[in-house]
Amino acid sequence: MDRGFIFGDGVYEVIPSYGGYFLRLEQHLNRLDASLASIRLDNPLSRQEWRSVLRHLVGAPPTPDQSVYLQITRGAPPRRDHLCPDGVSPTVFASASPIKPRDPKIATHGVACITRPDIRWQRCEVKSTSLVAAVMMRREAEDAGALETIMHRDGMVTEGAVSNVLVIESDTIMTPPISHLLLPGITRELALLLAEEHGIRYLEEPIPLATLRNADEIWLSSSTREVLPVTRLDGEPVGDGQPGQLWQRMDRLYQAYKEQVRNG
Ligand code: PLP
Repeated sequence: MDRGFIFGDGVYEVIPSYGGYFLRLEQHLNRLDASLASIRLDNPLSRQEWRSVLRHLVGAPPTPDQSVYLQITRGAPPRRDHLCPDGVSPTVFASASPIKPRDPKIATHGVACITRPDIRWQRCEVKSTSLVAAVMMRREAEDAGALETIMHRDGMVTEGAVSNVLVIESDTIMTPPISHLLLPGITRELALLLAEEHGIRYLEEPIPLATLRNADEIWLSSSTREVLPVTRLDGEPVGDGQPGQLWQRMDRLYQAYKEQVRNG
């Protein structure tokens, strides 16, 4: 009767570790707290307890690159009722799995995306385990020979089914501002931080679908996939159809950041 299973009444995080060191751990745990607060569930573990669970899962450095998936649900009451009775203990689940090295073809050829209306609910900032819309979008992408579906609402880009979207126009990175319509991605935030540190211009502003279609470059960002260049959108080339120069620069910055994490 676990409410994660019955209602999708839970939240989750995916946290990458390199060589046994976690990338942006505090940011991930902060977002977990925010997701839990949104669904009004107390965090069953302290920050220190989370750190020790995560350390236990990936092992002491140096270890292979892994990502930890963690999920907290409201627990398993005796009966199915949308209203959860008091006194139910949350369920905590966490596991580590290897991070696959990126396919080298991605850096040379990029990836394909399709676009679809955003059919999700209006609290997309919550990292909820209710993911059936994302499951449908990923399947549609796969069936169209693409990696990801980029979604739009009222003519504006929101995000990918499992990633954030960044658009490059005239050497400026543009990405939709944080709102309830998208997940505040940790990789998105890191890409903007790296841009700031290295003098690359960026704007957090609404992106019309037409701007996406005419972009010089499009990037996807997520913790396990990092920053990816999109070279085809709905079957049309993005820019010159090759991974862009600014992506190459951002990827170098991102890989260097990861190496710093790996070296503790
Ligand atoms: N947006 C959605 C809907 C996601 O599911 C994810 C990651 O899984 C992201 C964005 C990227 O978030 P992060 O960079 O924190 O992995």
